[in-house]
Amino acid sequence: ATPTALMVGSGLGAENGILIRKGEAIQRMKDVNAIVLDKTGTITKGKPTVTDVISFGETKDADLLKWAASVENNSEHPLARAVVNYASEKDIKPAEVSGFESITGKGVYAELDGKKVGVGTPSLMEKLGTKISSNVSSQKQQLEEKAKTAVLVSFDGEIAGLLGIADEVKEDSKQAIDELKKLGLKTIMLTGDNQKTARAIADQVGIDEVIAEVLPDQKSNEVKRLQDSGEVVAMVGDGINDAPALTLADVGIAIGTGTDVAIESGDIVLVKGDLSAVIRSINLSKKTFTKIK
Ligand code: ADP
Ligand code: MG
Repeated sequence: ATPTALMVGSGLGAENGILIRKGEAIQRMKDVNAIVLDKTGTITKGKPTVTDVISFGETKDADLLKWAASVENNSEHPLARAVVNYASEKDIKPAEVSGFESITGKGVYAELDGKKVGVGTPSLMEKLGTKISSNVSSQKQQLEEKAKTAVLVSFDGEIAGLLGIADEVKEDSKQAIDELKKLGLKTIMLTGDNQKTARAIADQVGIDEVIAEVLPDQKSNEVKRLQDSGEVVAMVGDGINDAPALTLADVGIAIGTGTDVAIESGDIVLVKGDLSAVIRSINLSKKTFTKIK
């Protein structure tokens, strides 16, 4: 690109809430044919809230919340904050735990009054040696079909309950996805969340393909796989778990409401955090770098 073209691009970008950190990226944007979008914080608002509390056996809802919040109080994960906030709204204060452990992409566990409490996925429960009955599985699936993340809570080796956690899609996500598809781009959602919840959210916004249950350190491998199959890939993310994928993509697009690390890993930053700015960057790229014949 000529310096003039880049300057024009940056100026127009700024007017449209698009911060261009690497000129080559906005130039490359017009060649992108696959766009990978992180789910949490990119397609959804990234502000999960507890919507369902389901306790099993003798467990009371208040106990379930107390156990879950006590462990989650030690985690920075958005789901953890949702649990702690919800408990607090119900006047349930977290208790002190010991031996807290966090397993990336799976959940957390700790000891409370000498009893082990786990909060997370089936894979975490397997690690803790806690069995999941078919009744628990089917209630979990019902939450997931409603686009909720279902978090299992175990107490002393048994599943004590389930928490349904919802993260609404952003107002403009569906329209942005529609327009990306009209421009001929393949749309792919990438998430650590489970397959069913991911599919339900993807259906709400019209995403073509879902890659779910991806551990944080595997997200960039998925971008690589697409590139190896010949796609020019743009990745949109908020930097929580996806910074390496943003760096590896042909064009890394950081959602501006995300973390500092996202902004540092992004070639382009969408200042206002709205997905429709992705369309504006593609149009900007075409306008700036397609020669007038
Ligand atoms: P995402 O791609 O949505 O950011 P993560 O990779 O952070 O997801 O987590 C994947 C899944 O692991 C979550 O959907 C959740 O089921 C589980 N998980 C991770 N951390 C926690 C936590 N602190 N509490 C409960 N569940 C968790
Ligand atoms: Mg994430």
